[in-house]
Amino acid sequence: MIRFPAVDAFRGGEGLIRVIGHRGARGLVPENSMLGFEFAMSSGVPLLEFDVVMTADNVPVITHNHRLHAPTFRDHSGHFLTTEPKIAHLTWAQLQDYDIGRIDGASVYGQRFPDQAQIDGIRVPSLRELLQVTSQDRFSSAHLMLEIKSDPAFAHDIEYRRLLVRQVVAEVHASGLETRTLLHSFDWSLLTECQHQAPEMPTSFLTQLPENEEDIGEDSIMCISPDFSVQQESIPELVVNAGGRLWCPYLNDVTRENVAKAHALGLIVAVWTVNEPSDIHRMIDLGVDAIVSDYPGRVQRCLADQGISWLVP
Ligand code: MG
Repeated sequence: MIRFPAVDAFRGGEGLIRVIGHRGARGLVPENSMLGFEFAMSSGVPLLEFDVVMTADNVPVITHNHRLHAPTFRDHSGHFLTTEPKIAHLTWAQLQDYDIGRIDGASVYGQRFPDQAQIDGIRVPSLRELLQVTSQDRFSSAHLMLEIKSDPAFAHDIEYRRLLVRQVVAEVHASGLETRTLLHSFDWSLLTECQHQAPEMPTSFLTQLPENEEDIGEDSIMCISPDFSVQQESIPELVVNAGGRLWCPYLNDVTRENVAKAHALGLIVAVWTVNEPSDIHRMIDLGVDAIVSDYPGRVQRCLADQGISWLVP
């Protein structure tokens, strides 16, 4: 079995559980922004999760939805959007017209994050910008959980999917960060394409069981993810058989049994998105390797209270 250095950075152990900043630190700083990533890394959270989508001119950019998300995107007059153009229909230059530094408090989505800072002049970053900052010496311990978002509209467009992976992999190679990057997705067949194009980078498999309700304001993952309804007990085996090194289940899908099974198979278990202290403590108790959170500081606090580290000294 190939040993990937990036995988070890996400591995827990005795007295060690990793903290992963979800979209930077979405609870406190505008999501998927350079400010959020630098905040997380500067506060002792060197593991970053973020989402990559491709523009019309094939630039990998960091944003969650396939459309500009109205509650977090403002136009040049400072108004939150009322329509949601597709990222795939906008060029990189056009995308830079929008400000993502605030969240609309009148929206249901905005109400989920009442503590997020409100900042002007924040733009959607390119993948390249994040890779360049992460390459700086001061962030030498940073590792990236790079989620490739799979657009259901292109689900059967093999050429488009190959191009998406090619553009992402080319950026990572150009930065020299392939030993510090995981390729991560809900779309298992896209991860197979990642393994084909970039066998030197480990793959990380996201799952959510179909009975869970989806989060408000987020693109659905159900149509691009495999259907686990008849085989949920064997998800860890399915991940291993698909060549995955990390299994990333939704927090309500994790049990003591499936964590033990995953560990016995050699997988790392990184759970998302764990924000409430009671859930954080439950994950600690279940012995997961890593906790993905919008509030990485809360996870640090829960771990510290129990004498658990999140960094290897
Ligand atoms: Mg994500």
